[in-house]
Amino acid sequence: MIEDSVIIGAGPAGLSAALQLRRHGISPLVLEAESPGGLLRNAGIVENYPGFPESIPGPVLADRFVRQALSAGFNIVKRKVDVLHEDNNLFHITADGNILFSRTVIIASGTKPKELTGIKIDDAAEKKIFYEIKSLLHNEGRHFVIVGAGDAAFDYALNLSRKNTVTILNRGSVVKSLPLLQKRAGDAGITYSPNTTILEISGAADGQVLIKCAGSRKPIALQAHHVIGAVGRDPQMDFISRSLMDRLGELQKSGRLHMAGDVKNGMFRQTAIAAGDGILAGMLTYRTLQAAREKHEDCC
Ligand SMILES: Cc1cc2nc3c(=O)[nH]c(=O)nc-3n(C[C@H](O)[C@H](O)[C@H](O)COP(=O)(O)OP(=O)(O)OC[C@H]3O[C@@H](n4cnc5c(N)ncnc54)[C@H](O)[C@@H]3O)c2cc1C
Repeated sequence: MIEDSVIIGAGPAGLSAALQLRRHGISPLVLEAESPGGLLRNAGIVENYPGFPESIPGPVLADRFVRQALSAGFNIVKRKVDVLHEDNNLFHITADGNILFSRTVIIASGTKPKELTGIKIDDAAEKKIFYEIKSLLHNEGRHFVIVGAGDAAFDYALNLSRKNTVTILNRGSVVKSLPLLQKRAGDAGITYSPNTTILEISGAADGQVLIKCAGSRKPIALQAHHVIGAVGRDPQMDFISRSLMDRLGELQKSGRLHMAGDVKNGMFRQTAIAAGDGILAGMLTYRTLQAAREKHEDCC
């Protein structure tokens, strides 16, 4: 069987693209490696998504995206795409051992976290280092150390500080986060430590970790239950085959492949932009499918 359209990723971009395709009468197949809703499941309070004047928690907005998708009646299948390849005007998608074929593809796979590097980490500590917080939100009375100084670091800190103690470590002195989030972090009693570079993280008593750092004046050691890396994100394109990567521009121009959301937006990673990108990718994909159909009817 050949699909009309496969969408890789069920975050705001992928779900919006699928919603738009449904409006045009196309049933896309949406493949999602983890849980539908995407990165938004890690966000605290979203205050800049239009239409929610009282603001909305990230996981609640993610649930709304998913509910709308399910009521539109398209399939979200839990599968991780391992390889995306194109040959003979068809996309070949290998996902969890199955090969699917599709006339068009929308890549809405978001981003992957940059890992903490240059730190000596032992095996016991490895399990305590995270790059997202959605699986940690149930914790209470714990100490979290967050590494980073951008919006995500401060958002994670504010979210976790409701029930836990939080320390933010910044290896430099420049804070890239919105001043609004910095002020809230101060008001919430979050400790912020600039010019602090982690050298070593090792297992300690009671399932905690010992974090040894070089400070601006003297070495610092802290104990924590978890360390969260929030030092930036890169586009998630690991599954794109080498030959497809070389032809990415050409395929996008043909209208058979589109990219939507954080995967293509550099530093402009916001939910409303991702949703808008998804709607646009859905409309353009429909146009391509329709043009191919009309051409087929004319000639046969
Ligand atoms: C802490 C934090 C706070 C934020 N706060 C805000 C905010 O206040 N306002 C705002 O507008 N935005 C906020 N954002 C950003 C927002 O979450 C993103 O811009 C938005 O989720 C991007 O949507 P997307 O669909 O492009 O990507 P994502 O949401 O990242 O979705 C991509 C999806 O693709 C899936 N995927 C990846 N690879 C594969 C594969 N190989 N196979 C199958 N599936 C795959 C992923 O599992 C994921 O579900 C925040 C982000 C974070 C981390």
